[in-house]
Amino acid sequence: MEKFSKGIFTCLQQGIKGITYYSKYNYNITINDKGCVMRNKQVITKIMEELDRLYPDAGCSLTYETPLQLLIATQLAAQCTDERVNIVTKELFKKYKTAEDFANADLKTLEQEIRSTGFYRNKAKNIKECCKRIVEEYNGEVPDTMEKLLTLPGVGRKTANVVLGNIFNVPGIVVDTHAKRLSNRLGLTKEQDPTKIEFDLMKIIPKEKWSNFSNQLVFHGRAVCNARKPNCEACSVKPYCVYGQKS
Ligand code: SF4
Repeated sequence: MEKFSKGIFTCLQQGIKGITYYSKYNYNITINDKGCVMRNKQVITKIMEELDRLYPDAGCSLTYETPLQLLIATQLAAQCTDERVNIVTKELFKKYKTAEDFANADLKTLEQEIRSTGFYRNKAKNIKECCKRIVEEYNGEVPDTMEKLLTLPGVGRKTANVVLGNIFNVPGIVVDTHAKRLSNRLGLTKEQDPTKIEFDLMKIIPKEKWSNFSNQLVFHGRAVCNARKPNCEACSVKPYCVYGQKS
């Protein structure tokens, strides 16, 4: 197991004190006196390079053909696997083709059609209300800004960033359960709230990499860094990972 050696870190200029752990790879990790993990640019670059090597084509794993389909699929994906959502939407999108179709859907019928994705009552209600607003306010088209997307019922920053990144090429960091877990384990944040994590990552990841980086965290979370039992010994990101160095 790779161990970090320890050294005292003091930065008088910034008034920060803490302990720096030096690895043989020279990618140090600093824990400051407030318990915050501070990753240097070199470590972050190494993490990005490794994820690029492992997942050069990390994209959205939801199946969609139109902006509306991605918006609906992302709403259904809350607390559900993408695989399950893709099974459900295969039939759903044959029946409902426009925002107007969803807005006019019979609520009870829609509930049953999406039931297997979980939280189906809430999701059906939100999808109907969301599509009603798209028809009334946005002429039936999915809006293309964060500000407008957040006006839609059931749409939070995560869903908005998925749509912006994949449809409109607007960089955004999507913080789902995998991105939340990995960004903490990698020492890129100490936050648990997805919005705070998003803003932490935005400060340290180059803007053009935002969408891709969060997709790569999801891929790595599924492949190696599982919630219950991360496979650190088989993980090539381990030299740069706070959790991996402790395990
Ligand atoms: S070293 Fe372990 S905790 Fe860190 S990213 Fe790899 S699998 Fe996850």
